[in-house]
Amino acid sequence: MNVTVIGYWHGFPEKDEATSGYLLEYGQYKLLIDCGSGVLAKLQAYCTVEELDAVILSHYHHDHKADLGPLQYASIIKAAENPDKQLPIYGHRLNEEQFAGLTFQHVTTGIEYKEEEQATIGPFMVQFLRTHHPVPCYAMKITVADGATLVYTADTSYFDQLADFSAGADLLIAECSGYAGERVTQFGHMTSSCVGKLAARAQPSQVLLSHLPHHGEHQQLIREVQRDYLGAVATAETGWQCVLAGE
Ligand SMILES: [Zn+2]
Ligand SMILES: [Zn+2]
Repeated sequence: MNVTVIGYWHGFPEKDEATSGYLLEYGQYKLLIDCGSGVLAKLQAYCTVEELDAVILSHYHHDHKADLGPLQYASIIKAAENPDKQLPIYGHRLNEEQFAGLTFQHVTTGIEYKEEEQATIGPFMVQFLRTHHPVPCYAMKITVADGATLVYTADTSYFDQLADFSAGADLLIAECSGYAGERVTQFGHMTSSCVGKLAARAQPSQVLLSHLPHHGEHQQLIREVQRDYLGAVATAETGWQCVLAGE
């Protein structure tokens, strides 16, 4: 499984960058997780819009779905070349109005996922866990046939069940919206020390800190996570890539 960070900022994109977006590839299949502000422009450094096979949204906050509309317009414009293509966009249905917006003319189709059901999206098997966030939001555990496993926390504050859900992942993409001691947890986010606690309990092979704050030195976040977790930790950057190899 190939993982590429398309965008990683909390709330809004810094200059020439993007908020949440992650491209997963396995074989020829391309799945985009979240489609935040700036994602569509940054994505095209790695694949064309037509090459995307599916999109999945963790929740409907703007920094995770702002580029959905432009993606749908792009799909219309490109449809002249490939009139039969329908892009599936997976989302939860706890906000009926937002879910309805996933379907657009004949080019994108909203598909509901549910916490209690595993979804199969091309080669990806996806399990869900509702997070602790002001609006309904789902963490995802994504596995492929060779056993490689990615867990994406999406937006959330810390809770023990999230650590159990993340246990043993080859890569844990953890939201890290603040430095140790900052007041972000009451808004449904994690600080570096929350991520340290999460990773210490889950023991993933590596942690990627994402959904990063707009101040300070991100290297400090790594040091703060490593107070509790001794494994590999990196901070997200545009174009950060890794290959997760299974058994
Ligand atoms: Zn959010
Ligand atoms: Zn967010």
